[in-house]
Amino acid sequence: MKLRLKLHIKGRVQGVGFRPFIYNLAKKHNLCGFVFNDPSGVTVEAEGEKDNLKYFLRSLKELAPKISYVDKIDKEIIPLKSEKIFFIANSYISKDKFVFISPDISICDDCLRELFSYDNRRHLYPFINCTNCGPRYTIIKDIPYDRSRTTMNTFKMCSECFSEYRDVRDRRFHAQPNACFNCGPSMNLVNRNNKLSSHIEREDVEDILIKASELLYRGNILAVKGIGGYHLCCDAKNKEAVRKLREIKNRPTKPFALMVSNIDILKKICFMSKKEIEVVNSIRRPIVILRIKIYKDWMKDIALHQKFLGVMLPYTPLHYLLFFYLRKIMPEPILIMTSANYKDSPLIAKEEEIFKLKEVSYFLIHNRGIYARCDDSISRVYNRKEIILRKARGYIPDFFEFPTKKRILGCGAELKSTFSLTKNNYLITSPYLGDLKNYATYTFFKNTLQHFKKIFSFDAEVVAYDCHPNYLSTQYALGLNDVVKIPIQHHYAHMASCILENRVEEKVIGVIFDGIGFGLDGNVWGGEFFVGDLNNFTRLAYFDYFGLVGGDKAVEEPFRVAFYILYFLFGEDMFKLNIEFIKQFNYEISLPFIYLVRGKHYVYTSSVGRLFDAVSSLLRVKDRVSYEAEAAILLEMLSYKCRERKLNSYPFEIVKERGYYKIKWQNLFKEIVEDLLKGVDKAKIGFKFHYSLATIVRKTCQTIRDAYGIRKVVISGGVFQNFLLFKLVTKFLKDSDFQVYYNCRFPTNDENISVGQVAIANARLGGS
Ligand code: ZN
Ligand code: ZN
Ligand code: FE
Repeated sequence: MKLRLKLHIKGRVQGVGFRPFIYNLAKKHNLCGFVFNDPSGVTVEAEGEKDNLKYFLRSLKELAPKISYVDKIDKEIIPLKSEKIFFIANSYISKDKFVFISPDISICDDCLRELFSYDNRRHLYPFINCTNCGPRYTIIKDIPYDRSRTTMNTFKMCSECFSEYRDVRDRRFHAQPNACFNCGPSMNLVNRNNKLSSHIEREDVEDILIKASELLYRGNILAVKGIGGYHLCCDAKNKEAVRKLREIKNRPTKPFALMVSNIDILKKICFMSKKEIEVVNSIRRPIVILRIKIYKDWMKDIALHQKFLGVMLPYTPLHYLLFFYLRKIMPEPILIMTSANYKDSPLIAKEEEIFKLKEVSYFLIHNRGIYARCDDSISRVYNRKEIILRKARGYIPDFFEFPTKKRILGCGAELKSTFSLTKNNYLITSPYLGDLKNYATYTFFKNTLQHFKKIFSFDAEVVAYDCHPNYLSTQYALGLNDVVKIPIQHHYAHMASCILENRVEEKVIGVIFDGIGFGLDGNVWGGEFFVGDLNNFTRLAYFDYFGLVGGDKAVEEPFRVAFYILYFLFGEDMFKLNIEFIKQFNYEISLPFIYLVRGKHYVYTSSVGRLFDAVSSLLRVKDRVSYEAEAAILLEMLSYKCRERKLNSYPFEIVKERGYYKIKWQNLFKEIVEDLLKGVDKAKIGFKFHYSLATIVRKTCQTIRDAYGIRKVVISGGVFQNFLLFKLVTKFLKDSDFQVYYNCRFPTNDENISVGQVAIANARLGGS
């Protein structure tokens, strides 16, 4: 019996080889009909024997192209039309455009094979790609996704490329960035004064890469243009090169991400589970945080005192070529690949900007334009699940199903800025944009938002933003006209992002440990226990307030918090304490501080991030930081060295005062000082501090469960990037019969704020 089916397929099905896939599948199963792109996905009409249709449908789900993502298929039976053939019909374009733009995808195995095949016409061609791989998001200027609306529009396909492009049986059918030596982008190794020629031959590529790898071998820094922007690159094992790179980046201690040529070399330096291998190797190619196997001497310069390395595999043809030539002169090349930018400014993607980096002399550039900049992403694995820590290249744009009738924009926070918007029942998040503290990043924020508004034809009716009056994201929101404006408390937004991501329906306990965020009482929050859902929340418990002497300065100088706590606990007797921390201050030097503390020249905070700082400084691990959370990170690393696992918590109290449970940390710190006086191993003190915080979380959640009967806990906030604390807290809660939820898809740091803002604003407006 013959049937005709009309299918409407939603999801990431455009620009990913979906139509040729359908076409070939239909032919295989002897069907007639057609397929075309429509504004929200792909429409198929297929007609044939009932059984054939059944197999067609089954394969459609099972064999869909790797980078596609089928969200939903609507089916209906319609009258027969009995065409002779199956064909690809013209795209249907409407004004209200909405398509699932694909993220940028690492080079596929087929292209990689061709890249290194002597007889292939693209042998060594650095911009080889196909329907299954290559740049997408970063080259798209507008939609529908056609070459004319990408940065490839300046290159005219040669006849050979065009015939591949038109041939539905070809892997490059409708591959918009399709190119070859004859017609595509070219590259060159230049110093500031050279120009890029518009054409490149195979021999040129060899010359260029031989020179580039020699430069790296000799310890030079190379600026390398990638998919989403420029990297600064050097030999990771060359001490002098790494020192120079640190100077250029004005980055004295922060660990660098590495690129390693293949999985086998990676296995030699890091431990990897099956899941970690899968994530490192995935088509998204994030930087993955892996545990170091043997701490080699050269790692000191890359990641001093670290237990983990951030590592990625090559993901563009150019990376593979570079390693291919490097291997001829170095046995196991490992490169630092760090984003090229000026301090606190966004990633550089344009030649005129990269040439301004005075200390860099060599540039591996090309002329395929980067329209939307995008940093490398960072992930780690826990419990066989990928946890995204920074979401950008390979993951963006991200579409999260989110039924709503409103067009909502969430503006995010300040550090680790992102925005989120709603469209056609999806929540779409921007890439990580950087720290929104200066004009350059603010411009990047506004331009990226403008771009998203255009490609998703979005225009906000509702805007949600952080309560902090000084955030540039808040000021942006307040400057908008004719929109409903909804301010949202920072830590509540953290909690909401986690509720939404895990689709928790009931009320939850929210444990939000964070750096700093604007609290509803005007103090700086950051050690919070809430109860609530997306509709509202109540603050039930928090860490007893302490002084942040010098406000933001205290974030850069953790010793200020330690000093406050000691003065608070011991008064001027603190100078009699025979501990290393005190030896750096004599009474005279300390007078200005004492004056500030006595005069209460500080803001109050409950921030757990700052408590980490205080302990780190008390232990003389770090007094001043050169990057965000450095003191806390080094304390975590030190704590891993503690061999004892059977410990007790430091003492603490949970006291009910004026309707709140306050977590009294005073005795905890007194005991830490006692341990220091006794000369207890610092690694043990550090570990015991982590252990105590996890115990505090368990005890406080139990107290709340007893009063409210809630046993679902969401944990979120920047402090949970601390993997040791994260593991202890989830374990303690699970062992005490709580159901624990955490962020995987929306990073637990401030990247998730815009997501939470949208979720809460939507609920406040009556939900979907
Ligand atoms: Zn490919
Ligand atoms: Zn060509
Ligand atoms: Fe935060």
